[in-house]
Amino acid sequence: MKNILVTRSSMPSYEEYCEEIKELWESHWLTNMGVKHQKLQDELEKKLDVPHVILYTNGHLALENILAAMNLPKGSEVITTPFTFASTTHAIVRNGLVPVFCDINEEDYTIDVSKIESLITDKTSAIVPVHVYGNICNVKEIERIANRYELKVIYDAAHAFGVEYKGKNVASLGDASMFSFHATKVFNTIEGGAICFKDDSLVQILNDMKNFGIHGQESVVFVGGNAKMNEFQAAMGICNLRHIDDEVKKRKKAVEHYRLRLSDINGIILCDYQKDVKSNYAYFPVVFDEKKFGSSRNEVFVALNNAGIGARKYFYPLTSSFECFHNSYAAATPIAMYISNRVLTLPLYADLSIDDVDRICDVILSLGKK
Ligand SMILES: *Cc1c(COP(=O)(O)O)cnc(C)c1O
Repeated sequence: MKNILVTRSSMPSYEEYCEEIKELWESHWLTNMGVKHQKLQDELEKKLDVPHVILYTNGHLALENILAAMNLPKGSEVITTPFTFASTTHAIVRNGLVPVFCDINEEDYTIDVSKIESLITDKTSAIVPVHVYGNICNVKEIERIANRYELKVIYDAAHAFGVEYKGKNVASLGDASMFSFHATKVFNTIEGGAICFKDDSLVQILNDMKNFGIHGQESVVFVGGNAKMNEFQAAMGICNLRHIDDEVKKRKKAVEHYRLRLSDINGIILCDYQKDVKSNYAYFPVVFDEKKFGSSRNEVFVALNNAGIGARKYFYPLTSSFECFHNSYAAATPIAMYISNRVLTLPLYADLSIDDVDRICDVILSLGKK
């Protein structure tokens, strides 16, 4: 039987992509904000219903740059969660800021807003919450806290492309939101990312940061780096954007079948659909309670692997326990620890067949208590 990978990148047809990049052979304009870059940026501003989209060569550099653009005092504290991809915490630390880890909640694994205020000190400058798995944080409460203590809010929305909250795209939440367009994400530009925001005054500084601060052939006004999205990435994005609604619909079908098979099983915990949220079906996390289910997360992981099925311990370990941080930012986050030790994300992509979902669920259910 063929192997099932944990993810499979969405791609346009070969012909569609070739058609899109054809004019690059005529223009020889391969990067530096060419026509494809401009087109994708315009289309995303429409699609995400946000005044400004600045494209990046990847999501991580986008997050590093927007944190730098906020001018937070060096050494100040940024409240975030450890239940995320390395990028979130690394972007904070690489900016000379100190991550202060807040626990997550048990319902949707986003930041536990009831625990934020007790972590605020006179050194706190910002909150970096994560819409983990595409689950939307309690944005109302985060906004209230941020206003009260005058903190910046930068959302790591890497998982949340296309998600809507109360009928509005999440791209305009907070001071800014970072999206990743990495090959493994719901919408991809091979590698890529973007910062979305409303504040006009951020446009110039982000463009300076991603292109050496160059304003003209003889004018360099800012010590920026290089993080530009190239024309081939943008062309992939233009093609993938044409099909994104269909791709999400196909993901939805797979998720609904997973839910049908795995709901109401003793010891298997699924995230509920969130109220007022239109999902993008980015991931399918499953938490295994060994005592009730009969097998541990690690046992399920091994059994799936032996059956040729890739699943991921996503997110394990917590970023706070990465060896590169030498316990510098140790914090008590018991819920994050609990979930991290028990969660698996199951294979999910637009072309995952219902038969494959059944095959995956059969392996999992065979490990449960009889
Ligand atoms: C993918 C991801 C990123 C970084 O995005 P890249 O485009 O891979 O640099 C940041 N945060 C989270 C939560 C992610 O999953």
